[in-house]
Amino acid sequence: MSEVPLKVQFWGVRGSIPVSGADYARFGGNTACIEVSCGDERLILDGGSGLYQAGRALKKAGVAEIDVFLTHCHYDHVIGLPFFHPLYDPSTKLILWSGHTHGRMTTRELIGQFISPPWFPVSAEYCTSNLHCRDFVPGDALAPRAGMVVRTGSLSHPGGCVGYRVEANGKSVALISDTEHVAGVLDPVVLDLIADADLVIYDSTYLESEMERYRGFGHSTWEQGIKLCKAAGAKRLALFHHDPSRTDSQVEEIERAAQARFSGAFAARDGLILDL
Ligand SMILES: [Zn+2]
Ligand SMILES: [Zn+2]
Repeated sequence: MSEVPLKVQFWGVRGSIPVSGADYARFGGNTACIEVSCGDERLILDGGSGLYQAGRALKKAGVAEIDVFLTHCHYDHVIGLPFFHPLYDPSTKLILWSGHTHGRMTTRELIGQFISPPWFPVSAEYCTSNLHCRDFVPGDALAPRAGMVVRTGSLSHPGGCVGYRVEANGKSVALISDTEHVAGVLDPVVLDLIADADLVIYDSTYLESEMERYRGFGHSTWEQGIKLCKAAGAKRLALFHHDPSRTDSQVEEIERAAQARFSGAFAARDGLILDL
């Protein structure tokens, strides 16, 4: 088991809304969805539009049990859920986790509201025979799969959001999206979640020069991601939640600027697989 790497697969890296077309071909247009696995144990972080392709791949691989952790339930992080094949496959056990609405709404209530007419043809009851909902409090450490620990913490985002750190076999990956930083401040919750991490996936929606215009929207910048990674001793930084208006060449330009300041930085793209 000690040689088994922690594997990260990006199924969706875009923020806000899926995009398609020639301008987005290299980095991809699907919204937030990341698969993290260690051997046969696997989990999914967020259910954006990338979850559709993830579901097809999981079905093909014959995966019988899947945990999906939601950072929060804005559309770009859940729009793939109603189209996730395992939801309708009685032979697959699906465990859905959330904590951002702790004390206000359970995961079961959340999915019941989201998957229901008139927004969707069928209600969540139609697909609940194999669906198990779990609630947690941000700050909890969870052990969903054998050998995998998931640490959680509250991020700064309208309506609440959860940052995750997944640890297995001495390796770690953190997902910090969506979150808004305060100029000149390094969020202690984020620093804790990304401490010495092998990979940090960070909300890089805006540029620092755009922050004044988008103050209160709940997002951050690649520049802040680098500051946090350097302070926390994190090894690599995946720029994530690309603004839907950014073309491939603009994302590449951002990636070059980020790499000049932090050699472990790169722009996440759909389909990218990393062994940590
Ligand atoms: Zn988002
Ligand atoms: Zn959001």
